[in-house]
Amino acid sequence: MNQNKLFQQTRLRLALWYALVMAVILSLCGYGIYRVVSRFHWRTLDRELESVAGTLHDSIELKLQQPGQLEPVIEQLLPNICIVGQSCIPKQSNSQRHILTAINQSDYYVRFFDTSERLMAIAGTYPQGLSLAFNDKSWQTLEDAQGNLYHQISFILHTQDNSDWGYMQVGRSLADYKGYLEAMKLALGIGLPITLVFIGLASWWLAGLAMQQIYHSYRQIQQFTADAAHELRTPLAATQATIESALFLPQFDQMEGREILRTIQRQNQRLTTLVTDLLLLTRLDRQTVSISPHICCLNDIVTDLIEEFAALAIASDVTLLSTIDMSDILHINGNEDQLYRLFSNLIINAIQYTPPNGKVIVYLVRSDNFAVIQVQDTGIGIPTQEISQIFDRFYRVNSDRSRITGGSGLGLAIAQAIVDAHHGSIDVQSELTKGSQFIVKLPLYLTKMQSP
Ligand code: ADP
Repeated sequence: MNQNKLFQQTRLRLALWYALVMAVILSLCGYGIYRVVSRFHWRTLDRELESVAGTLHDSIELKLQQPGQLEPVIEQLLPNICIVGQSCIPKQSNSQRHILTAINQSDYYVRFFDTSERLMAIAGTYPQGLSLAFNDKSWQTLEDAQGNLYHQISFILHTQDNSDWGYMQVGRSLADYKGYLEAMKLALGIGLPITLVFIGLASWWLAGLAMQQIYHSYRQIQQFTADAAHELRTPLAATQATIESALFLPQFDQMEGREILRTIQRQNQRLTTLVTDLLLLTRLDRQTVSISPHICCLNDIVTDLIEEFAALAIASDVTLLSTIDMSDILHINGNEDQLYRLFSNLIINAIQYTPPNGKVIVYLVRSDNFAVIQVQDTGIGIPTQEISQIFDRFYRVNSDRSRITGGSGLGLAIAQAIVDAHHGSIDVQSELTKGSQFIVKLPLYLTKMQSP
């Protein structure tokens, strides 16, 4: 329960961190996009203003004769012009050049000043609250009394004989630009929190997925520890019982003494084997057992083991045979001790789980770039539903029978770990009461001449 709480808390913390990091990244990206888009938009505005003002300047300047005198061409180009001191007569013009329709129809304005910087005329959508004071800076951003912003460009105009005529200022309202930026801010302001809610949910789900794996391995470790403790307790309890009963005896003769010592030695041996197996498994897990680049001859290993287990097979009344093609010597790159351990685990199991008069055959063959070692028996077989579990640590199909054989349920787990360390594979096929076959495939060591 407590562990569950710990995992839930870790999951929550992981999800929050993930969401936080994503929030920072998204906010920075949002801000960056906002800056880039607004700058781009601003540039477009500048270019548009420059182009409109430039067209107007070019159209007017060629026709100017007297400094400070508004020529008819100005009225033709800007029909809604208001001349200072006269009334404004808005007229509709039919003959506008299309670039200048912007000034007459949208939120552009044009102001003309004479050389003494006095306002002469205004055209376009003129902002009421804008200061009439002259400023000759070429680019300006102005603000009217209501806080509306305007962007403006100024030019000096010359007459045909190249004397100063006065100034022209073309400006436009920034209301649509501001509106555009406001809309973008709103979209980011609403979009970002909504995205973050989805990110939060996604991170909770992802953290759950990650924790599931960790929780699974944590449960496996817990199970492994419990199983190991249980296995260690059995020989320890047996030793303890033997010692207690020996102490209980008022006296014992040499024969009895020896028998007691032999029992203790047996249990001790079991403990030692168990601890050695556990250590080997742990080291294989951590990949600390070095697979030194040692070339091992599988033909020799299998032949040695057949000889070694001949006595055990005879004692168990089982025929142990091998089929090895001695003309095809198979080498693999690996750890010889581990390979001996791997195949002896399989052969011992085959002998032990085969009833008297049964047969165990070990095959060694080449298949493409792999050596295939097959240990086949006519033994008790493994129930189909348990086949997937026999490689689990401490798993025994029939624990009573395994105990008789002295098995702890680690043999196949070790075999699997050794095969993995050698980049091979192990498979099993079995039929209850008919027998089993374990098939190990290991990548061959190929010399340059052998490799394809
Ligand atoms: P154990 O030390 O108990 O033999 P193993 O990990 O070597 O443990 O094997 C796990 C279980 O798989 C055994 O308890 C046994 O039930 C089953 N098993 C392994 N090899 C064979 C086989 N050749 N025939 C039938 N059952 C087998």
